[in-house]
Amino acid sequence: MTKNNTRTTPIRTAILEILSKIKKPLTTQEILCALDKKNINANKTTVYRQLESLKKNHLVNEVHFNDRNTRYEINEEGSHHHHLVCIKCKKVDDISLPEDLHDQEKIVLKKNNFKVLQHYLEFFGLCKNCHK
Ligand SMILES: [Zn+2]
Ligand SMILES: [Zn+2]
Repeated sequence: MTKNNTRTTPIRTAILEILSKIKKPLTTQEILCALDKKNINANKTTVYRQLESLKKNHLVNEVHFNDRNTRYEINEEGSHHHHLVCIKCKKVDDISLPEDLHDQEKIVLKKNNFKVLQHYLEFFGLCKNCHK
């Protein structure tokens, strides 16, 4: 147990470091590559477990784009936002919506009697370099 703990803690720290530096949502695979570049040996299961635990502690957020991958990004205080994803160069920008979807969530509660706890909204298109 002790051995395991001393091994996973640097990975956890490294994951947080990577995510806060890159400032864009990364897949588990991309996180593994970044760890590898730091000469940190980790397998997919370990990284996944760390991410799940970081998520539970609200240190990272899960992000879903229109593929099968789950991505993770650092959760900065009060940083609920959405993403602009360029389908050509894969650039990802954060965007905050002035009123966000609070009104929509209220409507859903009224109309569907469904209490929304969370939502994901990502925009897909072409960034300023990719569209003329
Ligand atoms: Zn682009
Ligand atoms: Zn939102």
